[in-house]
Amino acid sequence: MLSPARETPAQSESYHGQRPVDALTGFEVTADFERFNQKYDMFNRAVWDDEVRSERANKFFESYFTDLAQFRKVEGFQHRDYALRNAAWYIADFTADLLELSGDRKEGFLDSYTMFREGATRKSQASAQEHTAELKRAGRFLGADSIGVCEFDERWVYTHNYSRQKLTTKAMDLPEDLTHVVVIVNEMDHAIIETVPSALSGAATGQGYSRDIIAALSITQYIRNLGYRAVASLNDTALSIPLAIQAGLGQYGRHGLLITPEFGPRVRIAKIFTDLPLNADRPIDFGVTETCNICQRCSTACPVKAISFEEPNFDTHDGISHLKGIKKWTINAKQCFKFWANQGTDCSICIRVCPYNRDFSKAMNRILRWMLSNRWRRLALWLDAKLKQGERKTAGWWWRRPADG
Ligand code: SF4
Ligand code: SF4
Repeated sequence: MLSPARETPAQSESYHGQRPVDALTGFEVTADFERFNQKYDMFNRAVWDDEVRSERANKFFESYFTDLAQFRKVEGFQHRDYALRNAAWYIADFTADLLELSGDRKEGFLDSYTMFREGATRKSQASAQEHTAELKRAGRFLGADSIGVCEFDERWVYTHNYSRQKLTTKAMDLPEDLTHVVVIVNEMDHAIIETVPSALSGAATGQGYSRDIIAALSITQYIRNLGYRAVASLNDTALSIPLAIQAGLGQYGRHGLLITPEFGPRVRIAKIFTDLPLNADRPIDFGVTETCNICQRCSTACPVKAISFEEPNFDTHDGISHLKGIKKWTINAKQCFKFWANQGTDCSICIRVCPYNRDFSKAMNRILRWMLSNRWRRLALWLDAKLKQGERKTAGWWWRRPADG
């Protein structure tokens, strides 16, 4: 495999000072801020960077596509667990593979989706208010568990795409004049996430992505059918979390993830860039920052201590795979990915233990969530720990559950 010379992530643009929305999202953006180049994403570094790539990392990637001969005897990493994980990933992998060899596009992970019919030639003349209400109704119907809208913010758009076929950066192909971003989240299964760490729990990740894709592609075609442009994106093209926060879907957690009121951090995100006239939502605040200030449960539980115990800061760890010029909690992505590679599947321990990762169909958990939003926060954390919520369950427990349970 080629080994390109190690580069520093040179960026050409800088952004001076805060934007009004930053006061609502809690991000402090300085004049040093630089947009992110997709080449430095940890999954891409695992392909070209000797500091990240390894035999273990190769096996990790291959395990999603092999004949499952590599499964282990350990509970949660057996044949049935990998079989389900890889089946749950199938839609995401299938759509990503469609144009990888013929068109050098890995859609959903490196490139935006292109698999759409022509839309209408005549534009819908409804008002922005009507379009927004109807989009949200249609989006829920088409499979989004939650949906929000923010204004287009180029700070979160990558400077370049990356080709894992050619090991080079590629020009970003997102039109520059789109005005809004529709952000959707889909819930990952709560019971299966309780078995983390396990290969079985990776099925929740794959299923979350696969459900996102169905909803995002359908919503994109709906917007095109209204006569407007729309570009569907999963992990490609732009950073999903700041857009989701700006779209009012949740807040930023110490573990570097979006925390939603409905599903906590147990979500996967997709987004649609569009010029459909829409009204943006406002960021929400349900007390997450104040909870994270005193909780640290994810930092303690992380097996490789990749999650900070400190206040939000400008730390960029090895300075290559993290945003520069923004004050926030930033996980050590290199340490995190190494753990994934070593155990042969993704990890969501920080999601499992988070006190916002609860089944909110239960009244007790809704009360605890309310307490986390106010002066009862410390008591809520104590009660949550006493109830042993977030403790690991075995994969066998999940497999023995009734099929509709
Ligand atoms: S586990 Fe605690 S500190 Fe970590 S993100 Fe969740 S609430 Fe915040
Ligand atoms: S996914 Fe696992 S390894 Fe990565 S930060 Fe979370 S707990 Fe740590």
